[in-house]
Amino acid sequence: MTQSVFSPIPNIPNPKHKRIVIVGAGFAGLKLAQDLAHSDFQIVILDKNNYHMFQPLLYQVATAALSPSAVSFPLRRLFHKIDNVIFRMAVVKEIDKKQNQIHTNLGSISYDYLVLSQGANTNYFGNQNIQKFCAPMKSTSEALYIRNKIISNYERAVNLESEKERKPIMNVVVVGGGATGVELAGSIAELRNKVLPRDYPQLSFKNMRVILIEAGNSLLSGLKPKSRDKALHYLKKLGVEVMLNTMVEDYDGFTVKLKDKEPIETLTLLWAAGIKANSLEGIEADQRAPNGRLLVDEFNRLQKEKNIFVLGDQCLQVGEKSPHGHPQVAQVAIQQAGNLAKNFKLELKNKAWKPFQYKDLGSMATVGKSMAVVDLPFISFHGFFAWFVWLFVHLMAILGVKNKLMVFLTWSWKYLSFDPSLRLLIRPRYVKDFKRQWMLEEKDYED
Ligand SMILES: Cc1cc2nc3c(=O)[nH]c(=O)nc-3n(C[C@H](O)[C@H](O)[C@H](O)COP(=O)(O)OP(=O)(O)OC[C@H]3O[C@@H](n4cnc5c(N)ncnc54)[C@H](O)[C@@H]3O)c2cc1C
Repeated sequence: MTQSVFSPIPNIPNPKHKRIVIVGAGFAGLKLAQDLAHSDFQIVILDKNNYHMFQPLLYQVATAALSPSAVSFPLRRLFHKIDNVIFRMAVVKEIDKKQNQIHTNLGSISYDYLVLSQGANTNYFGNQNIQKFCAPMKSTSEALYIRNKIISNYERAVNLESEKERKPIMNVVVVGGGATGVELAGSIAELRNKVLPRDYPQLSFKNMRVILIEAGNSLLSGLKPKSRDKALHYLKKLGVEVMLNTMVEDYDGFTVKLKDKEPIETLTLLWAAGIKANSLEGIEADQRAPNGRLLVDEFNRLQKEKNIFVLGDQCLQVGEKSPHGHPQVAQVAIQQAGNLAKNFKLELKNKAWKPFQYKDLGSMATVGKSMAVVDLPFISFHGFFAWFVWLFVHLMAILGVKNKLMVFLTWSWKYLSFDPSLRLLIRPRYVKDFKRQWMLEEKDYED
């Protein structure tokens, strides 16, 4: 049963040592908790989901290439036999900085140190129609929704007689030319070229457009110019229509309105155009940058606070080498968490803290089979070898031996057969009222 926000979260023992509460078990929160395992701190880690999500591969869940369980890892499993780490599935709503407490849907908890690592969510730039009708991809459930939507589109299209009616159902428009948009568009084009025509021989896939829209003048803005050009070339090779310098103005579920360009009819608008940092009540306006990220110093300490820290996508850390802050990518989150864990351990020895320094390990993106681009600090390459490096790096980064093995086998099978076997349309059904009593429902963990 959900507790009042003013009563403490039940069954969390009083700490023998200082308590660090971590909000969010993404890349940053998880790394911090793991690095502080078996230390002289009590770690309470809270997340609205009971699993860690590997976001870089969500697009493969959306395009039926990987199962959700291959890119999600149960958090409780990670903390077996680690006595000083306690996990609760909870939505954190508010900080009471004076009382050193946070309020969640399960109740409240006090902290000696608070670490916020809530990541970011989809940014619709204030357009309510787009928010209502598009499909974002920031979570496993959103990726599954996209998979269901794409498959149900073709199950519907196959029953329509006129091509005019079929067209908007078959077209897919992806907005956002970052790594997510590029990978999603490439993957959908591969489905169209190789997989869907075998499943739906009655449909003509020449009529299916895969369009990638980007407001700027190039794709993958964080990569080197040569890699960007190569990615564009690969997408075109797959038959993706790339529209650069194009602004989406509105979407009503059927027609994408573009600034100064012809509208596009589609029932499927996938939104990968931007993110905004998550936040919670109790943070003051001057602790936030205009883009919503929370302002931290070189130790990731929230401005004006002594015992509150912010990591990863949620924070903005401006320095001499990074006047606009660090990019919102996994490596920054992981490295910041590693540095903060070291500093907490220095604190136990009464030693001085070390400032964070970001080590850029490079960037990469894959467009399709044997087509990827990799920028390392001193060398860039593309093609089959880059694709192999991309596969290897992502495989190594996935948590758990079973997941690594599952992903490796799935990728190998897909490479040989090009027949992703997850084209299943599984629609969750609500449990009947009288059976709900002991189930956690969406309202218990989402806002
Ligand atoms: C589709 C996609 C593809 C990406 N691809 C790449 C890539 O290829 N390479 C790369 O480097 N980066 C990539 N990124 C970005 C990368 O995933 C993020 O930079 C990284 O996840 C940031 O880590 P984080 O710990 O700050 O936040 P996250 O990993 O997002 O973790 C935030 C956690 O906080 C939890 N949370 C949020 N609000 C609350 C709340 N109120 N209460 C409780 N829990 C809460 C969430 O459930 C989540 O578990 C991608 C992102 C997406 C969405």
